[in-house]
Amino acid sequence: MTATPGTLYIVSAPSGAGKTSLVKALIDAEPNIRVSVSHTTRGMRPGEVDSVNYHFVSREKFVQMLEHGDFLEHAEVFGNLYGTSQSWVLQTLAEGHDLILEIDWQGAQQVRHLMPQARSIFILPPSQDALRQRLDNRGQDSADVIEQRMREAVSEMSHYVEYDYLVINDDFATALDDLKAIFRANQLRHDAQQVRHGILLAQLLA
Ligand code: 5GP
Repeated sequence: MTATPGTLYIVSAPSGAGKTSLVKALIDAEPNIRVSVSHTTRGMRPGEVDSVNYHFVSREKFVQMLEHGDFLEHAEVFGNLYGTSQSWVLQTLAEGHDLILEIDWQGAQQVRHLMPQARSIFILPPSQDALRQRLDNRGQDSADVIEQRMREAVSEMSHYVEYDYLVINDDFATALDDLKAIFRANQLRHDAQQVRHGILLAQLLA
């Protein structure tokens, strides 16, 4: 039997809002959901692993892939290029998996344009102070970089209205529950339920 195509989800957030941890906890709990591994030209951070966190590539390689039409979307963020593999996304959806793209607002706009059926979620911090503290706690960036990222965060957050859902990450467990509720509700849409419960629906209407 051919699988019902999965749902494409876009998850965006300013740096430090806890997006990556929330998405990781979500997929630990929901193994059928896949997460796209983006290509990027940025350098690897301590603890990151090539092909797990990102496919780390040179700018030359990225531009070559771009010209070859390999990306569903791409954007420049903090001076680095990021892009989502088109073939992987299409194949994973065709296999019936729900799929998350962790991308910025620019990429989100491109994907919405190409795939209007995609659902988009924006994760927000509970306050600017909390965001600054989370950026400090990473201990990986200088004060200048943190202030620059705060400005970028405010700019990123100004796009919240373009998204279908907003999740405030104050308490992690609550934010995770909110995220799970969005996925659960989408799995209960009548078109998805028709596929799962076709026999029951036919029997009920007999
Ligand atoms: P970071 O370098 O801190 O992991 O990510 C910086 C920003 O780039 C984040 O807002 C992240 O969502 C975004 N980003 C990561 N991968 C992609 C991608 O493939 N496409 C786009 N448009 N943005 C991405």
